[in-house]
Amino acid sequence: MIEKRINELIELINRASYEYYTLDMPTITDQEYDDYYHELEKLEAKYPELVKENSPTKRVGGKVIDSFKKITHKVPMMSLGDIFSEYEIREFDARIKKVIPNPHYVCELKIDGLSVSLVYENGKLVRGATRGDGVTGEDITHNVETIKSVPLTIDFNEYLEVRGEIYMPKKSFEKLNEERKKNGESLFANPRNAAAGSIRQLDSTIAAKRNLSTFIYHLPEPDKYNLSTHSSTLEFMKNLNFVVNPNIVVANNIEEVITYINEWTKKRDELPYEIDGIVIKVDDIADQKKLGYTSRTPKWSIAYKFPAAQVLTKLTNIEFCVGRTGKITPRADLNPVHLAGSVISSVTLHNEDYIKEKDIMINDIIAIHKAGDVIPEVVRVIKERRDGTQLPFKMPDICPICGSKLVKKETEAAYYCENNFCDARSIEGLIHFVSRDAMYIDGFGERIIEDFYNMGYLKTIVDFYELKKYKQELMELEGFGEKSIQNLLDGIEDSKKNSLERFLFALGIRHVGKKTAKILAQKYETIDNLIRATYEELVSINDIGEIIAKSVFEWCREDKNIKMIEELKAHNLNMKYLGPKVVTQENFQDKTFVLTGTLTKYSRDEAGELISNRGGKVTGSVTKKTDVVIVGENPGSKFNKAQELGIIIWTEEEFKNKLEGI
Ligand code: NAD
Repeated sequence: MIEKRINELIELINRASYEYYTLDMPTITDQEYDDYYHELEKLEAKYPELVKENSPTKRVGGKVIDSFKKITHKVPMMSLGDIFSEYEIREFDARIKKVIPNPHYVCELKIDGLSVSLVYENGKLVRGATRGDGVTGEDITHNVETIKSVPLTIDFNEYLEVRGEIYMPKKSFEKLNEERKKNGESLFANPRNAAAGSIRQLDSTIAAKRNLSTFIYHLPEPDKYNLSTHSSTLEFMKNLNFVVNPNIVVANNIEEVITYINEWTKKRDELPYEIDGIVIKVDDIADQKKLGYTSRTPKWSIAYKFPAAQVLTKLTNIEFCVGRTGKITPRADLNPVHLAGSVISSVTLHNEDYIKEKDIMINDIIAIHKAGDVIPEVVRVIKERRDGTQLPFKMPDICPICGSKLVKKETEAAYYCENNFCDARSIEGLIHFVSRDAMYIDGFGERIIEDFYNMGYLKTIVDFYELKKYKQELMELEGFGEKSIQNLLDGIEDSKKNSLERFLFALGIRHVGKKTAKILAQKYETIDNLIRATYEELVSINDIGEIIAKSVFEWCREDKNIKMIEELKAHNLNMKYLGPKVVTQENFQDKTFVLTGTLTKYSRDEAGELISNRGGKVTGSVTKKTDVVIVGENPGSKFNKAQELGIIIWTEEEFKNKLEGI
């Protein structure tokens, strides 16, 4: 069993390395590669008798292509061990301290490119080589000579080898891919691949056009030049006109290293080139020697890798969820994976069109990322990894819960269950009623609602207000006690005092979101006024379109809804608007606002409320229709867009003054 897995991992990793280093065409993500690699390392450590000759843990990098002249490195070019957490950084420090009691570290950005060795003789560049398998690399002198930041001559006549990273700046990468798209050529997956693909070309005119650059970070034979620390080698190379990254610092202890890492984790996107982590190196060269090397990495250095922004996983099944409006949403079950701080085991597939457009099949390997850093989303299907086990997706004809026939609305991509008595719809409606932006009845998790529904205590929203009759029975249910039931009942009692907009939103009227509920509550002040409103009146309200007006009007005409309102009134639910009235103010009335950056005195919600209470509205993006953009600290691209379009800009101070009528 174990041996089989080891062989499987070796095959997987070796194939991936070949595709990555030699072909520059990876078919698995770095994260996936690293996961396989670590699994293999762990198995090999546990079962040393099973370590194979062809194990990738014994090699650095990939094979060398025959078309390039081979170069044997004078000093082997090694890889770096990698770590992924603060815990592992501290472990690294502890390992070092066993040998070096008081280490100083150099912290460097880990440039996401490919490593290069440059050799100078008599002050002239004589050779540029890739790392290859670490011992033998490829001669890429002709291409290296085209890189402007590589000095062709230096003011130093002794033999000298320096090493560093060749990379492609983000802007050049974008431009290159744009051009390739125009020409119908395949796109590079990332700047690293683009740099590697450019440098490993026989024709140097290609590399010359690609705007590559370098950062030099390593001097293999420091003793020769009487240099005793890594930081002094960097200074030495800088003085010879090599480009050394300006963001390198010497840290006196591991805390300073961690601060550096945290700082660059936040700032990495601001750099004009990509970095995929931070490299930590022991500064003193005598200390480095004491620490030594493993077969493929130095023990005095380590790479901390940033969490992956994108991971691959297998889509094992597609299920269908029924929402409170009856909308059927396909959801993918995934083999659980870590992604930016959480474990993801499912992802929404939105609707049939989305699945068709992305060509998603059951058993596909898919790449997922977090959209806006919160909600996981499918990026693409890795079609190269289809192995014949894939099953096509089919939208069901009937509701998976109640079995009634599904209906597709002409104007929408979604299918609907139109059975008003569908259990799934009823349960979702109840969950919505108690949710945070609706009646906000604390303590009612989805499970409790589902259980109470199935036991018959909760069928409609009116039943929430009848629950107290069953207090004794409920207290005796398994998992409940007097205290938990009393808390639920208190929450229900409290909810009676909510202002009208919460109640309107909680009712779950189709197309009535939080914002619309607020507009309606402010305008009509009581539910009775709203029920009496004509369609013409509703549609004439700013921000209420035909679809919403129709939906609200029709809802108010249904007997069962009116009956429900009467029953809730009998339970003394407040049905009046309790918030501030709209007092229109000239600077705000009928104007459209966009907020960008962080405001120090108001939350986004507060600012939005203050604006709407004065007759204005807030939207998400800057367009020609925007009247004012309010700019807080660290504004985003909306600020630039506002400037481009010549839209009025208020600082937070100006906003505050206008609110106060100054
Ligand atoms: P690495 O990228 O993990 O780190 C070592 C490299 O970092 C060095 O060789 C050097 O080129 C670079 N580097 C950048 N800045 C540096 C600095 N300031 N100081 C020192 N070095 C610096 O190691 P690797 O061996 O080049 O690549 C292994 C990684 O490549 C894997 O962890 C994986 O993420 C990826 N990989 C992916 C696939 C795939 O199929 N997706 C296949 C093989 C490898």
